[in-house]
Amino acid sequence: MKTISTPRVGDFHPAGGFWKRVTDLVQNEVIPYQWDMLNDRVPGAAPSHCVENFRIAAGESDGEYYGMAFQDSDLAKWLEAAAYSLSARRDPELEKTADEVIRLIEKAQQPDGYLNTYFTVKEPGKRWTNLRDCHELYCAGHMMEAAVAYYEATGKRALLGVMTRMAYHIDAVLGPEEGKLHGYPGHEEIELALVRMHQATGDPLMLKLARYFIDERGKKPNFFEQELKNRDGSWYFPLHELGDQYAQNHLPVREQDALEGHSVRALYLATGMADVARETGDETLVAACKRLFDNLARHRLYVTGGVGSTEKGEAFTFDDDLPNDTCYAETCASVALCFFTRALLQLTIDGRYADVLERALYNTVLAGMSLDGRNFFYVNPLEVWPEASRKDPHKRHVLPVRPKWFGCACCPPNLARLVMSLGRYAWGASGREVYAHLFVAGDVEIETEAGKLRFQLHTGYPVDGEMRYRMPAGRYGFSVRIPSWCGGKYGVTLNGAPVDAALQNGYARVEREWAEGDHLTLALPLCARRVYASPRVREDIGKVAVMRGPLVYCLEEADNGKLLAALSLDGDSELSEEWLPDKLCGIVEVRGCGARLATDGGALYGDCPPRRTPTELTFIPYYAWANRGEGEMCVWVNQR
Ligand code: ZN
Repeated sequence: MKTISTPRVGDFHPAGGFWKRVTDLVQNEVIPYQWDMLNDRVPGAAPSHCVENFRIAAGESDGEYYGMAFQDSDLAKWLEAAAYSLSARRDPELEKTADEVIRLIEKAQQPDGYLNTYFTVKEPGKRWTNLRDCHELYCAGHMMEAAVAYYEATGKRALLGVMTRMAYHIDAVLGPEEGKLHGYPGHEEIELALVRMHQATGDPLMLKLARYFIDERGKKPNFFEQELKNRDGSWYFPLHELGDQYAQNHLPVREQDALEGHSVRALYLATGMADVARETGDETLVAACKRLFDNLARHRLYVTGGVGSTEKGEAFTFDDDLPNDTCYAETCASVALCFFTRALLQLTIDGRYADVLERALYNTVLAGMSLDGRNFFYVNPLEVWPEASRKDPHKRHVLPVRPKWFGCACCPPNLARLVMSLGRYAWGASGREVYAHLFVAGDVEIETEAGKLRFQLHTGYPVDGEMRYRMPAGRYGFSVRIPSWCGGKYGVTLNGAPVDAALQNGYARVEREWAEGDHLTLALPLCARRVYASPRVREDIGKVAVMRGPLVYCLEEADNGKLLAALSLDGDSELSEEWLPDKLCGIVEVRGCGARLATDGGALYGDCPPRRTPTELTFIPYYAWANRGEGEMCVWVNQR
């Protein structure tokens, strides 16, 4: 199977532009801040105890385990983000901190290779008795990803060795052979991590295990039911109440037609399926992945790139059910959607995958973090009424302001590791072909059959729509994505002159003998536009959203006053734009003519329709909402 590789994290360097602010923030603020969080040094934040749990497991500290069963994964994700940061920039102090904590992790590993502080400290003797609820394989997967990232960043193999021993331990316990548990993770993640371990170590056991977990899932008899009986019905989470779909074991994966259940689980599984398909050439898995994507893109994706329509089970519900004010749309689920679409782009070049990747990245993923990098959303609604969040039990999960940290802190470090490895999402190569999927300003070096090629992209995207690529010399094809939102309106020039760039699968392609320093320029029309949902989405009938390039916009109380639901946007008025460098770290604000509904007197009901008072509506990018105190917000606005 011909596949598409992506650059190493250390071979991409963001420079200037939109993402440099975000990556600098993650590097300079978020990573140190999250380290303080993991060590319980931030006053007023929910305790983590994560590093202390490792100290206790390593015998360096006395005390009780504290936190969720999957607390170890927070350290793993932090280490992975720290490794990417080290790939981008040497930092002896950060490396020393990471080396020390890796030494601690090594010490917490048991003589048989087992690594998990929850079971080591709190439930010794109960290892591998509750795969459904207790995340042993999930935590192992995250630590494997950290191990690969740290090895690639520093060349140091200690953590890779720890996790190789853990993989061999897992293989001794789980598998198709007689005498082993025929189980698989309750929360997928290790599948994709094992593929990375395989790439880093070349050890075929890693790929064998990944494939086993994917092939075994959903087989009958149901492993989790059997496991529950063996535990006499005891549980850590009452997941049996949520049905088999919750953990995607309702059917063998190749028979699944839609992403179901817990959205992060479902998307980690789908990513693992695509990764295993790429490494093994399994076309049946490729077909299943494409089916899952098609259903998601047609029926289960918010305009913001959020996924997961209900808080109950943090889950998908059914086709076209996309409520705006009770959704879950977890930050991690959109991070996982970026993983899945990246994995699809390594199988097949199709602009639809990159469109969804960009939608998730620029909207829900970015909205997960405040502009100062200190506060984080877990849930990303498209509509918020703060009083309802406080008083309506069905909306309690929909927070109007980002908290500092969570008892279950999956999202902040997940966001950090994605942002610190953007080069792997922005670029691809196969043979003598280079692909530009996303427009992230910076330098990249990519291995191709035409040698190692170094490209530079200068762009102010998504503030402006001009992408200026400095091309290296050589004969190769260059395919640059044409986002579907531009409606086919784009221009490609070479050294200032129009050039023939055939459109293939959503990419404009130029193949030639390039001269060093050739400039290829892509111009996209970046202006505010109205977007409508299919009437199948009942919640959005009669409503309109505003987008500008990849950015979804929203109304906030801070600009538009209370009761946003009483506002409407005129159908045909022009949308004006203004670049405001000092507002919300620099945004293009969009304004449109509309009206506000009001009635005279205080009666709840009356015979007269409400009055319409003309008013101007002010829209800001969705990713920047909730940075000015508590207030209402909505993405979908009434259309007049
Ligand atoms: Zn999360």
